[in-house]
Amino acid sequence: DCVVYWMRMEDMRIRDNRALALASAQAQRNGVPLLVLFVLSPQDYIAHDRSARRIDFTLRNLRCIKWNASHVFGNIEYEVDELRRDIAMCEIAQEYGKLACIFVHDKCIVPPGDVRTKEGRGYTVYSPFLRVWAPVLEKASSHHLDEAPLPKPNNASVRKHEAFRNLFNAEVPGEVEGFKLDSDEQDRISTFWPAGEDAAHQATRASQHGAVDPLSKGATEADPTKKSRLGKYKDARDRMDADTTSRLSPYLAAGVISARACVREALRASGKKKLDVSRDTGVGRWIQELAWRDFYTHIVALFPRVSMGRPFQEKYADVRWETNPDHLQAWKDGRTGVPIVDAAMRQARTMGWMHNRARMIAAMYLVKDLMIDWRLGEKYFMETLIDGDLASNNGGWQWSASTGVDPAPYFRIFNPYTQSQKADPGGEYIRHFVPELSKVRGSVNHKEARERAIYRYKNIGAK
Ligand code: FAD
Repeated sequence: DCVVYWMRMEDMRIRDNRALALASAQAQRNGVPLLVLFVLSPQDYIAHDRSARRIDFTLRNLRCIKWNASHVFGNIEYEVDELRRDIAMCEIAQEYGKLACIFVHDKCIVPPGDVRTKEGRGYTVYSPFLRVWAPVLEKASSHHLDEAPLPKPNNASVRKHEAFRNLFNAEVPGEVEGFKLDSDEQDRISTFWPAGEDAAHQATRASQHGAVDPLSKGATEADPTKKSRLGKYKDARDRMDADTTSRLSPYLAAGVISARACVREALRASGKKKLDVSRDTGVGRWIQELAWRDFYTHIVALFPRVSMGRPFQEKYADVRWETNPDHLQAWKDGRTGVPIVDAAMRQARTMGWMHNRARMIAAMYLVKDLMIDWRLGEKYFMETLIDGDLASNNGGWQWSASTGVDPAPYFRIFNPYTQSQKADPGGEYIRHFVPELSKVRGSVNHKEARERAIYRYKNIGAK
């Protein structure tokens, strides 16, 4: 007899993990060991365009998890294939008779289904979503921010079942076939993104207390004489030439830290007793970003077509795209000749991560200037980034392609040069990632490309 906690790729932690806490309590009640199941599934990773960096990060995080502790409990994954898998699992368990499957909400701060219009529908525009999301979260009875208790050690059963004791340490393979990183890349990526819950909590503290750091110098310790990075977030977050954002997305995407913990820590760090989602404070603006993460996850849960390669706005299913492998490859390689786009794409390749504004500029350039199908860009980001998350990535791409919920209107097209002046006024970011390109002008005429994009979105189906 045992109780199974089924750890998913988005759940790589022991602290504040709801399904694990439930599984542990059940194992205690039954006096049986807790078995932790993690399924490595290369076929799934291929189907979902997972990056080798993300798979390697998963394995590194698995190795960091040490167990003192010894039904099937799991946190819900909202993508359509994953939901089908869990339903199939529940059906098998039912046929089997003795096994109970319990899947719980954990990924979002407020779970899908809890933020609804008066008519009971989900929101497809962010601002009204946020206006309901915040009070739902604040309601004392909601418990959405409560920390899930740590699993309890169950030494007697662990001793009896020695095989479970170091399950992870003993059995995490060095690599997954088809997702191997060479050793240089592995060293570089693990320096940027050390694995483990302690690293995630340290990064959280550094982002909330530390100062704004120069590019790639790493987080600094708290300096009480300076305004913290969180305090400056409202004004500084769009600057690409310094380390102005939390850089927590790899940890959030892999669940190495819970989004609840991020909100709790941010409120604590800013001395707030009440939830703050105001546009006018650093902490409020930061929590708003976490609400975007919830918003896009709710969209995936409520509108499965977005995780099946369909535009949210079906009327844009037939925009005429260019088929130009050379342009696509130049974009991926950071060789378009537009310095800010190339710096953004090289940041992706070097770090496995990009600043949010860099993602928006690079995505908008692919879709509107090169007129290349947004799904090819979505796939490339998933294959390259360490924080690849279907909901946020799809949401960001459909925003840029003007096909999504609450998107950039198709006629509001970023001018990469103006964006560059605002986000990187001294050219530090460009010099850092593409020193040789800092003075080159772009190869695509932005004005003409802009007119072509507007024409094609306006005249769907026209030749
Ligand atoms: P911070 O500014 O410190 O924000 C804190 C957290 O809030 C982030 O870690 C993230 O979890 C969440 N967040 C912030 N902005 C957004 C947003 N716009 N949408 C959803 N969540 C947000 N984010 C991913 O986590 N994975 C992706 O695969 C991903 N792909 C994207 C693709 C495109 C085209 C675009 C435009 C955005 C994408 N984002 C993605 C959202 C955003 O760019 C990143 O979350 C952010 O840059 C991560 O940096 P940070 O942790 O320093 O963010």
